[in-house]
Amino acid sequence: MEVRLDGRSAIITGASKGLGLAMAKEFAASGADVAILARRPDVLEQAKAIVSDGASGRVATFVCDVAKADDISKTFAAVVSGFGKVDILVNNAGQSRALPSEQITDEIWHEDLELKLFAAIRFCRLVWPGMKERKWGRIINVLNLGAKAPRANGAPTAVSRAAGMAFMKVLAGEGAPHGILVNGMLVGLIDSDQHVRRHATQGANEPYDEFRAKLGAGVPLGRIGKAEEFAAMACFLCSDLAGFTTGAAINMDGGASPVV
Ligand code: NDP
Repeated sequence: MEVRLDGRSAIITGASKGLGLAMAKEFAASGADVAILARRPDVLEQAKAIVSDGASGRVATFVCDVAKADDISKTFAAVVSGFGKVDILVNNAGQSRALPSEQITDEIWHEDLELKLFAAIRFCRLVWPGMKERKWGRIINVLNLGAKAPRANGAPTAVSRAAGMAFMKVLAGEGAPHGILVNGMLVGLIDSDQHVRRHATQGANEPYDEFRAKLGAGVPLGRIGKAEEFAAMACFLCSDLAGFTTGAAINMDGGASPVV
């Protein structure tokens, strides 16, 4: 079985590092034109070099803060002007944030919802008419396990992600008659830049391998995931091979979720 995305063009948000970068590399190697979106221009340039190596589609970068509505509309227009269309959208940009609820101010709630929920809503609204017209589309909302299994001190993320999962399900119903397939991928613990940054602030007195091994100790499979494993699933979901899968919220967590 060969997973190919030839002739498709994709927007991946938060794609200069971590899971987004791994998806950009996999999609480009599988033949898609890939638009890599993130905020820092220098990191985007590094990502472009990594993704272009082995790419069979075009690779372009866009400075875009997805928490800003203006950035989203301008970037969408620029991608369409460069690639002609958007067939695949991966709403991936995000950051971890978890606090006791009494400490979460209105400002923090708004920031989290803008970044993780409204960004996806706005991008989906923009790509939708073109996907409908061409009768083909793939959308993935990257979420986390809190979407299905919220825990104490898990807000605001769990709330933003649960809303993102509900929105995914609504869109899956609306998109099905038009060939637009929409799924969610719920991340448990997967190796990425965010864990490297956490190691630098919290665990720099031990090697990163040990820090990562401790993180994975509580996962049933005994380790945290690899970004490439996440990217492989995303690429499959965005291909023609996954033509009967929509409205699914798939746990990518090595068995860690307490719920299916
Ligand atoms: P990383 O921190 O490794 O990478 C985040 C990427 O998103 C970077 O490219 C960053 O670039 C970009 N980004 C961050 N904020 C914005 C923004 N406002 N607008 C545009 N781009 C942005 O994250 P991961 O790869 O680990 O996470 C990917 C997704 O998976 C996120 O939504 C995260 O919340 C979720 N997740 C990941 C987990 C994990 O274990 N890895 C666990 C649970 C959820 P720049 O800073 O330059 O913008």
